[in-house]
Amino acid sequence: MPQYDYDLFVIGGGSGGVRAARVAAAMGKRVVLAEEFRFGGTCVIRGCVPKKLYVYASQFPEHFEDAAGYGWTVGESSFDWKTLVANKEREISRLEAIYKRNVDNSGGETIHSRATLVDRHTIRIEADGRTVTADQILIATGGRPSTHPALPGHEHCIYSNEVFDLPELPTAIMIEGGGYIAVEFANIFHGLGVETTLVYRGKEILSRFDMDLRRTLHETMEQKGIKILLHSVSQEVSKRDDGRLEVKLNTGRSLTVDQVLLAIGRTPNTENLGLEAAGVELDKAGAVVVDAYSRTSADNIWAVGDVTNRVQLTPVAIHEAMCFIETAFKGNPTTPDHDTIPTAVFSQPEIGTVGLSEDEAAKRHKNLEIYRASFRPMRHTLSGRQEKMLMKLVVDADTRIVVGAHILGPDAGEMAQLLGIALKARLTKEDFDRTMAVHPTAAEELVTMYKPSYLVKDGIRLDA
Ligand code: NDP
Repeated sequence: MPQYDYDLFVIGGGSGGVRAARVAAAMGKRVVLAEEFRFGGTCVIRGCVPKKLYVYASQFPEHFEDAAGYGWTVGESSFDWKTLVANKEREISRLEAIYKRNVDNSGGETIHSRATLVDRHTIRIEADGRTVTADQILIATGGRPSTHPALPGHEHCIYSNEVFDLPELPTAIMIEGGGYIAVEFANIFHGLGVETTLVYRGKEILSRFDMDLRRTLHETMEQKGIKILLHSVSQEVSKRDDGRLEVKLNTGRSLTVDQVLLAIGRTPNTENLGLEAAGVELDKAGAVVVDAYSRTSADNIWAVGDVTNRVQLTPVAIHEAMCFIETAFKGNPTTPDHDTIPTAVFSQPEIGTVGLSEDEAAKRHKNLEIYRASFRPMRHTLSGRQEKMLMKLVVDADTRIVVGAHILGPDAGEMAQLLGIALKARLTKEDFDRTMAVHPTAAEELVTMYKPSYLVKDGIRLDA
C-alpha cells in the first residue's frame, strides 16, 4: 500500500504545470493536476497565444496599404472587434482542451478546482473540500498583472487579463509601462485603428534591450502615429460623466481616453495557497524561493515558472518543468539553464534578440567589435514603406565569440530562435563569416557584415 495517494500533485495548469504532470504521468507516476481557472495558463488563455493572434489582426491595414505597390487594388475594408474576440476564444478553447487532454492521455488525473496546501504532503481540493496526500508537490501557479493601488482612480484601469475581451474596441487608449506588454499592445491597438498613447516613466522604452533597437523601434512607432511620452507617469485617473477617462500625468499633461491599460509587470500567485503551513518560503516580492533545482524550502515541494519570478517566459517554465522531472523522478539532478535566452517582442516592427546588449557587453568585455546594418527590407521596396530593418552583432574582440545578436524588423523573432543556437554554442564571428548566405533574405546580413561598424574599448566607442 503506497504511503501517499499520489506520487505528484501539481497545482496550476499552465505551461510548466501541464508539462511536468504530463511527463511524470507518462513515466507511470500517479499524478494529479489541479487548475482553478482554465487549462493552458496565462500563455494560452490571456498571454502569448491570443496576443500573437491580435498582432496578426492589427497588421492587416499595413498589408492593405503595401499591396498597392505590388499592383493590387484593395477595396474598402472594415474591422469587427467582436469577430476577432470570438474567433480568438474558439482557438484558445481548442488549445485549452488539448492541454487538458495531454495530461489525461498520459495517464494523469485533472481536477478543475483551486488546491491549497494543508501541510507538506496534504492538499485540500477546494471545490469539494476533500483532502489528498502526495509524495511530491509542484507549485506552478504562475503570476498575474501587478495592480497599482497607489494610483488614485486605478479601479478604472484595465490589465492584460481584461484587454483581450473588452466589450468594445476603444476609440482612444492610454497604456502605461514600457515593457513587453505595453509595447506590444500599443502596436496592436494602433494597428486596429485606436488612437494610442504609451506613457513610460523611463528615458526609453524596453529598458532591458539594446539601446539601438529601443531607439529605432520608438522612432518607427512614432512615425506610424503612436504617441510615446517618456519620463511620464499617471498621477490620477478619473471617470467623466460621459464614461470617458481623464488621466493626469506628472508632467502636467492630461489625456482623455476610453481605456487605460496598466502593464507594469507581474506578481507571483502565492497568496492563500497554504504555503506557510507547508514551510515554503517566499521572497519580498511574494515569489516562491527555490534552489538551483527548483526545490523550495520544503524538500518535497518544488516550484517552476512565473511563481518563482526567475525569468517570466513560457519556454523557461517548460524547461524548468523538464529539469524538475529529471531531478525528482529520474535520479538525474538537473539545474535549469537560464543563460543566453533568446526572446522576441511582438512589436511592429518586431524585435528578436539573444545575448548581451552592447551596453551590458561593454561592462563585461574590455574590447568589443560592433557589426551593425540598417537597411530597407526588400518587401518594402515596392510597397514604398520607409521602415528600416536593423541588425547588430556584438562580438567579444578578444575571444571572437558573438555575445549578442539584435534584430528589429519583419520575422525578427524567427531569426532570434536560430541565432539562439549559434550564441548558445558560443560560435565566433569567423563561424558566422564562413556560413553561406541565403539569398535574397534579410537574414543574410547576419553572415555578410565583414567589417566592424565601430569598436568599443573599455566602454568607450571608437572608430573601426
Ligand atoms: P515588464 O517587466 O516587461 O515591464 C514592466 C514595465 O512597467 C517597465 O517598463 C517598468 O518600468 C514599468 N513599471 C513598473 N512599475 C511601474 C509603476 N509603478 N509605474 C509606472 N511604470 C511602472 O512587464 P510586463 O508587464 O510588460 O510583462 C510581464 C512579463 O511577461 C515580462 O517581463 C515578460 O517576461 C513576459 N512577457 C513576455 C512576452 C514575450 O515574450 N513576447 C510578451 C508579454 C509578456 P522600468 O523599465 O522603469 O522598470
